[in-house]
Amino acid sequence: MSDHKIPLAGVIGAPIAHSKSPRLHGHWLRTYGIPGHYVPLHVEPDDLETVLRTLPKMGFRGVNITIPHKVAALEIADQISDRATLIGAANTLTFRADGKIHADNTDGYGFLENLKQGAPGWKPNAGPALVLGAGGAARAVIVALMEAGAADIILTNRTRPKADELRAAFGKKVRVVDWVKAGNAVEEAATVVNTTSLGMVGAPEFRVPLDGLRPGTVVTDIVYAPLRTKLLEAADAAGCITVDGLGMLLHQGVPGFERWFGVRPEVDVNTRAAVLG
Ligand code: NAP
Repeated sequence: MSDHKIPLAGVIGAPIAHSKSPRLHGHWLRTYGIPGHYVPLHVEPDDLETVLRTLPKMGFRGVNITIPHKVAALEIADQISDRATLIGAANTLTFRADGKIHADNTDGYGFLENLKQGAPGWKPNAGPALVLGAGGAARAVIVALMEAGAADIILTNRTRPKADELRAAFGKKVRVVDWVKAGNAVEEAATVVNTTSLGMVGAPEFRVPLDGLRPGTVVTDIVYAPLRTKLLEAADAAGCITVDGLGMLLHQGVPGFERWFGVRPEVDVNTRAAVLG
């Protein structure tokens, strides 16, 4: 990789047109006056490895990886961060000068930074943390909660075996309860995190009983379309501290941008406005 090339980065997925990452990184490139570009790249699974081996030769410093390539990217990478190994998926690749591909997963980092920024008094050990859902995002959220010091994570998922798998992977700090008992777990929790797609535009509504929400409980929804989900509205009405999911998306982009473009970007109101367009 030679220094005279214009620094390039991008996001790889299929489909990719909906991605907000080009807006996010484009905003930061303009804000910091960096003469680089960040582009959406539609790549089919069969082409992923060839594309990843070719991009560095074209001046790309790295890429974000999204659906459906997050697991495959980890398999292609030459070096893998501990947190990407734990999560079992990659969302941030950096092309090193020696030709090696470094894989990281910054979703959990983004989740935690968003929570700290949105609920500055949040304490990981104030009481049980309830995680709803056991998909890819839940893995990142659980790893992040454990890294932050949460010692009691209640996990519930419509398909129980998937939650049991995560319990087996992450150990005794995670306890699984049946999806039909999610409402009881809400009563017990000091932190509630929705990692399911419920409540997202185009997905079914979030119907977990929320009568047990207590004032002061920190409630965050990683769904960010819409920004104020029904869960967050109900939590606001119950006197909870609520944090929307957009900040997770913004913060997860920070480590990649810093590695590729050499500046650690701020996540502030202007960043949010730029991404919301
Ligand atoms: P995923 O791997 O497909 O997992 C989807 C989860 O939603 C599973 O736990 C699934 O349960 C649950 N679910 C889906 N339909 C359901 C229903 N009708 N009833 C109950 N549970 C249902 O997806 P993901 O990658 O984890 O993403 C989940 C959500 O997080 C998406 O909305 C995504 O946009 C959002 N997200 C946001 C960020 C951010 O930066 N804010 C980052 C990543 C993801 P089953 O196992 O029973 O199917």
